[in-house]
Amino acid sequence: MLLRHTPKEIKERNALTINPAKTCQPIGAMYAALGVHGCLPHSHGSQGCCSYHRSTLTRHYKDPIMAGTSSFTEGSSVFGGQSNLLQALANMFTIYDPDLVAIHSTCLSETIGDDLTQIVQKAFDDGKIPAGKKVIYCNTPSYIGSHITGFANMCTGIVRGLAEHTGVARDQVNILPGWVEPSDMREIKRIARDLGANIVLFPDTSDVVDTPQTGEYKMYPDGGATVAEIASAGDSIKTLACGPWASEDAAKLLDANCKVPYEVLDIPLGLSATDRFIEALANAAKVSVPPSFVAERGRLVDVIADMSQYLHGKRVALFGDPDQLMPLTEFLLDLDMVPTHIVSGTPGKRFSARIRELCKEKAPNVNVRNGERADLFLLHQWIKNEPVDLIIGNTYGKYIARDEDLPFVRFGFPILDRIGHSYFPTVGYTGGIRLLEKMLGVLMDKIDRDASEPKFELVM
Ligand code: SF4
Repeated sequence: MLLRHTPKEIKERNALTINPAKTCQPIGAMYAALGVHGCLPHSHGSQGCCSYHRSTLTRHYKDPIMAGTSSFTEGSSVFGGQSNLLQALANMFTIYDPDLVAIHSTCLSETIGDDLTQIVQKAFDDGKIPAGKKVIYCNTPSYIGSHITGFANMCTGIVRGLAEHTGVARDQVNILPGWVEPSDMREIKRIARDLGANIVLFPDTSDVVDTPQTGEYKMYPDGGATVAEIASAGDSIKTLACGPWASEDAAKLLDANCKVPYEVLDIPLGLSATDRFIEALANAAKVSVPPSFVAERGRLVDVIADMSQYLHGKRVALFGDPDQLMPLTEFLLDLDMVPTHIVSGTPGKRFSARIRELCKEKAPNVNVRNGERADLFLLHQWIKNEPVDLIIGNTYGKYIARDEDLPFVRFGFPILDRIGHSYFPTVGYTGGIRLLEKMLGVLMDKIDRDASEPKFELVM
């Protein structure tokens, strides 16, 4: 009983969050920056913040995450961090030779009011940035928003700093994948390749945070969208922005700056969202969908049909990031499961409305909340009042799962106690089978564990 003090009775709270369903903005900014080839992320704040950002990403991806820090002292906290950042930029380009540095702010540098636009301009004016090198930046005050807000802000910083409009149109489609795993980014590229669609995917963390062990250390791994690829995004036919929270702002800016029209989609998780993604990509790239996708889709539908007796009517509690929870909720409804409690620490009014719209026919009594007081404490209380059959969420859900003896699927960020998320995609039709396999695995393990000897089945 690790959460033995969680009471069943729910009292409205106005000023307290317990076990938030989110993490800090700069972690998202750092993750997005890693999706640009040759990029060294830089945290403009204290060493402690940077260590936290790096260690959370390292624990999730099991790969070393490199980043610089402005190493604020008491002096910089009072007088501003400009001199530290100027020195840091000179040191990073001299010693570590990145193609570009991606700076994000922190709570402290935001609170004291450091102006990144002015400091970066001064760095160029003072000759601290070598010729041909780039510096991009974004503001990530972590007392608002979440890691998803930070990811979105850095995506916007990438567009602002790197995308160029030359006026010569390119036969390619931009895809902003949203916050997904490197395995998912690789799968989106595979889907585009099999469709015959030319794409520019950014950020792209595949082959950056899931690097192979070759015996040779590369400070800048082979993966990531290159500066030249992102620059060319300003001449693309269209942008598909997956996930309104993580990708819409960047797509909007690309449209405003470079006149590239955009369409906002869900991350292609599950059957329906993948259908929409494939259709949108095929339309944008003006290609027809080959028969191999009919077969891929059919395999997912076949698994759903085969296993429906284990899924039908199962009540699910889920928590995490809005861009993932929306298509995941839709997938659960497609499986005839019942989304029962849904929590996201990321704010944004559209979330609850969209979930209620999705659930209105099959799960009209869904409990949904997002933003500051939407935390795991509340989710646990909801589960105590209305029990569920399954929890889906990041590693922090294991405490509730253990206390309530519930099957638990790890999904989202961060996953600190299992592997697989970096390597096996959950997007697309094949990813849908992976998600199903994970859900069925824990549900059927519980059936096996709890079965009496006469009811213990070999074939299920
Ligand atoms: S102080 Fe702010 S930026 Fe630093 S680790 Fe904490 S939440 Fe993140």
